[in-house]
Amino acid sequence: MEKFKELGLDEHVLRVISNKKFEKPSEIQKKTIPIILEGKDLIAGSETGSGKTLAFGAGIIKNTKKDRKINALILTPTRELCEQVARSIEEFSYYKGLEVVAVYGGVSMNNQIKKLTMADIVVATPGRLLDHLRNNSIDLDNVKFLVLDEADRMWDMGFKEDVSKIVEACPKDRQTLLFSATISRELSEFSRKHMKSPIEIQASSYVDASKLKQIYYDVKDSEKFSLLIYLLKNEKAHLIMIFCNTRRNVDFVVKNLKEQGINAQAIHGGMSQEKRNTTLKRFDNSKVNVLVATDVAARGLDIKGVSHIYNYDIPMDARDYVHRIGRTARAGAEGIAINLLASRDYDNFSSVQKNNRELKIKNEMTPRFDKVFVKINREERQGRSFRRDNRQGNKRSYQRKDNRNSYNSRGRNDERKNREDNFPRHGFNAKRKRFINKFKKN
Ligand code: AMP
Repeated sequence: MEKFKELGLDEHVLRVISNKKFEKPSEIQKKTIPIILEGKDLIAGSETGSGKTLAFGAGIIKNTKKDRKINALILTPTRELCEQVARSIEEFSYYKGLEVVAVYGGVSMNNQIKKLTMADIVVATPGRLLDHLRNNSIDLDNVKFLVLDEADRMWDMGFKEDVSKIVEACPKDRQTLLFSATISRELSEFSRKHMKSPIEIQASSYVDASKLKQIYYDVKDSEKFSLLIYLLKNEKAHLIMIFCNTRRNVDFVVKNLKEQGINAQAIHGGMSQEKRNTTLKRFDNSKVNVLVATDVAARGLDIKGVSHIYNYDIPMDARDYVHRIGRTARAGAEGIAINLLASRDYDNFSSVQKNNRELKIKNEMTPRFDKVFVKINREERQGRSFRRDNRQGNKRSYQRKDNRNSYNSRGRNDERKNREDNFPRHGFNAKRKRFINKFKKN
């Protein structure tokens, strides 16, 4: 506690920190809180989970009056992160009684309009905030603090223009804090234009690399799901997150996990915001222990007790990989990231490793496991047939081995068993050989 006091934190925040039993400030908090409290602009290179919400929250809470005018605006890339940051700031400002309002799309504007009339602090995603600006339902004239949280992600998601418009709608006389895992050239340009001599700080992640084990299994495309089932049933785990690259794969995995009696829930951008929020709450409260997610929906989430991360698909981008694995091994806990690699993942896996040479992902012997049946619905099957037929000019692999008509042409039902994914299998051996030469031999 003493260390927190030395940073000059507000007594209201100190009480919350004491209730939460935080022992000492994290690296980012130590490095940034004094600068923030001095009122200087800041660019902080930090990952999610570094404790940055308390870092910028501390400055905002100390200097925000409870006057129902928007003193601080925090922009986040995703709706989930927006909710999470708003909840954290609300918690940290509990004894000061500040009104924190989360503003994001996918839910009714009217509710937000009502709450905005009372807000001291607003946490928002850029798109919905612009809607409110156009609608004249938000007044940014009193904003003294502007925070861009996970700025790199906002830029990746194409929010650059929106963010610029919002920044221009804020008073010039303000403090601007930019938090980002990486600082690209574009972000530097932005900071030159919109920030006043910002101080740059770099801090490492809250994830403890020594407590995080990373492994990969090399498996046939057609057996990936079976291996996942085997591992889920045999690995001792608490909360588990399984990442897929597409919404379709998320739905496929969830549906088939449920078939296998595993209580899994999906979270992706195709679901209503209400459903996404309920799903996250259920996972956070350990009511479900397997969450299957796309990157966007899970970005930046801080959920305690995630012991296992599975990459059912390997992401294309090394940054997404790092964000995925950062959901585990948090705050001193142990964690494991398990990559399920089939031929379709080799290219992504190579590029993830090439772009982040610090990743140490060890090859693990694939255990013996039973094959399980999987179900694919009509839509997926049709998508796949179309692609395969066009590429290969035949339907051979859909024929049953006994040379009777395929399930498809017999129009048997919506579901097709025992084929698990919709990716072409041609080129498998060549890809596999290249992969083995590259990774396994050294
Ligand atoms: P954040 O990076 O802000 O999302 O924070 C990640 C998690 O770490 C949150 O659950 C915080 O409540 C927690 N946290 C923040 N600062 C500390 C600290 N100094 N000691 C322990 N936990 C912390």
